Amino acid sequence: MLLKSYCIASGKAFYLLISKKGSNRMITHLFFDLGSTLIDESACVNARIEAALRQPGAPPREVFIDKIFELAAGSYAPVKVAADFFGLDVPHWDSSLEAVYPEAFGVLEKLSKRYSLGIIANQSAGAEQRMAERGIRKYFDMVTLSAEEGVAKPDLRIFKIALERAGCRAENAAMIGDRPDNDIAPAKLLGMTTVRVLQGMFAGAALLGPETPADHTVRTLNELLGIL
Ligand SMILES: [Mg+2]
Repeated sequence: MLLKSYCIASGKAFYLLISKKGSNRMITHLFFDLGSTLIDESACVNARIEAALRQPGAPPREVFIDKIFELAAGSYAPVKVAADFFGLDVPHWDSSLEAVYPEAFGVLEKLSKRYSLGIIANQSAGAEQRMAERGIRKYFDMVTLSAEEGVAKPDLRIFKIALERAGCRAENAAMIGDRPDNDIAPAKLLGMTTVRVLQGMFAGAALLGPETPADHTVRTLNELLGIL
């Protein structure tokens, strides 16, 4: 940003190239996580927990829930990890229970007119098709999924793949996601602007590894429109 400044001592105007951290960023690309960011997975998570707890030898509910959070840091599927820990069969993830957060449609519609939108998500195969069926695939220029790339968040490689695919530098991109460990920390490490959405089971999760504050925090997707 070029600012005109005025030198009192000499009485002459001069120009300064201001490079305050973050103040001169031009964001052109927004990358979204899917689960608990655009897609409400709470019914899937609850169904999986209940199915685990119905099995013989399952621990008390509180113990199982505590273990989910204890083992969750960096995990792709924390309920699965907890089920493994207690020697339980891993219940089926019923993706038919997923639902787009209602406000996502309007927010994506508006943001897609001002930015190029992408997805960086740890998801099983078929997630792009499910996005299409639920009416949100059309807002995105590119979709980068762990199931197809063979690498998952928080591995920096999946972010680099997405940035390269978009032809975008990290400083011109923002990552929007719910998890401090999988979304915020790695994106920040690469120099992306970060926005944490406090939704889903990790809304209160400062317990997931080292505390990494996002550049912005919002409680609903609608609040994105106030900062982007
Ligand atoms: Mg998520």
